[in-house]
Amino acid sequence: MTTPALPTAPLASSLSSGLPTATVALKPKRARPFFGRHPWVLDSAVGKVEGSPADGDVVDLATHDGHFVARGLWNSRSRIRVRLYAFDAATKLDDAFWHGRLTAAIALRRHLGLDDPAGAARLVNSEGDDLSGLIVDRYGDYLAVQVTALAIATRLETICDALTTALAPKGILLRGAERGLAKLEGLAMPDRVIRGTAPTGPIFVQEHGLKFGVDLAEGQKTGYYLDQRDNRQAAARHARGRRVLDMFCYSGGFAVACAVSGGARSVLAVDASDKAAALARANADLNGAANVAVEAMDAFEKLDSLAAAGERFGMIVLDPPKFARSRATVDDALRAYHRINRVAVGLLEPGGILVTCSCSGSVTRDDFHQMLSGVAQRSGRSIQILESRGAAADHPVNASCLEGEYLTCVIARVA
Ligand code: SAH
Repeated sequence: MTTPALPTAPLASSLSSGLPTATVALKPKRARPFFGRHPWVLDSAVGKVEGSPADGDVVDLATHDGHFVARGLWNSRSRIRVRLYAFDAATKLDDAFWHGRLTAAIALRRHLGLDDPAGAARLVNSEGDDLSGLIVDRYGDYLAVQVTALAIATRLETICDALTTALAPKGILLRGAERGLAKLEGLAMPDRVIRGTAPTGPIFVQEHGLKFGVDLAEGQKTGYYLDQRDNRQAAARHARGRRVLDMFCYSGGFAVACAVSGGARSVLAVDASDKAAALARANADLNGAANVAVEAMDAFEKLDSLAAAGERFGMIVLDPPKFARSRATVDDALRAYHRINRVAVGLLEPGGILVTCSCSGSVTRDDFHQMLSGVAQRSGRSIQILESRGAAADHPVNASCLEGEYLTCVIARVA
């Protein structure tokens, strides 16, 4: 399947007015989620369309018998046919509206104390900030933007204007959306600098008194895993004097926090990617953590070889990539989580600390706890859940769209 290019001509007649060009009527009995403020109208819920909206146009959502429900943006190419942004008929989705939403999102981060110019924070978390399809991360003076909805792509200039007015960044970089996602939306958006300039090397940002180099142009996600910020600190509180294994370490966030803030005896950090291992090495050096060793190796193989060699650790962090991409693969994912957690528990000395994470949205917190219960049963070790955490507060979850909740981080003691 080829991905159609993003239209470049101003296609949406409603772009500036923010007023609807069409009305999308739902099928009977399909309105309830939207009265409940859920922002995704799937193609299967759509009855008939009055008017002929262009992709990106403002449309009104109505019940099958014509009552206003909400206002959103149309995309004929996506299974999410309409993304909703306002639930009253008086709100126009014009430039002022997008400015307002962005200003509110930025103000929330200020309220959270995440406005240190030398720090990094997620400024916009898609549905969590009532801006479905938009992610904005700030790394020092630079912004990294990810667009996962075509309708947002057509408003990118407005969004960049608002970000520039509010923050005067040195540069705004566009990072491609996650594999597959862009295709689902009919979006073709290669990485590029949208405003200002790109940094010439890594950006250095502060996190809980530590310093991390972030590769904005080529790093994973938008360069760094901001969602784990507070979990790294929480994990580090258990590290004192322990031998720590940081599995799936990426740029070494947990490893450095455990070594420097936590006072670990030593840390072994492992990632399959050579690039990630190099970033972790550099970040350990940057923080003067001489007791961090980094290895580029497959985690499954490494866990098995450590077990075969009879190695023991006082603390193990497991932060794997998303194992479940959809509900259909949840069972396979749970088996994979079981497997690595089972081996990790075997590697832990009695009283050791397990920090185990899932960033698979379709694996619920409950599923994950059940998986740990299975590991306790199979290993004959008692697992005490000390904390079951989520993403940091700059990744808010919209209560009307719980699909946005994806991260589970359990800190447990293994007897
Ligand atoms: N803990 C990190 C984020 C980890 S993201 C932090 O706090 O920043 C998941 C990482 O797993 C990625 O860096 C990816 O390169 C790595 N990875 C994916 N598959 C792997 C495998 N089979 N073995 C080891 N690492 C793997």
